[in-house]
Amino acid sequence: MNRKERRAEEASKRKAIKKSKKSGQEFEQKMALFGHLPDTCMTCAAPFDKKNRDMVMTWHVAVREAEEKVNFIVRHAGRKQ
Ligand SMILES: [Zn+2]
Repeated sequence: MNRKERRAEEASKRKAIKKSKKSGQEFEQKMALFGHLPDTCMTCAAPFDKKNRDMVMTWHVAVREAEEKVNFIVRHAGRKQ
């Protein structure tokens, strides 16, 4: 991935987040960010199925924005980590 492509991807993520914030709904936010979610749990690397709606709803998905970079934190629901 070259620099230009990476920049475009970051812009696309920001756009999705901005859009989802307007809607104000957590589920819609997750759906908007769907394509950018990681494939595994950030803590234990368990597989995370983006196409599984229940999984998306029950797992803890956090979005962190810093320095124009977007990081996704995906963890199992109800799990203390
Ligand atoms: Zn995990």
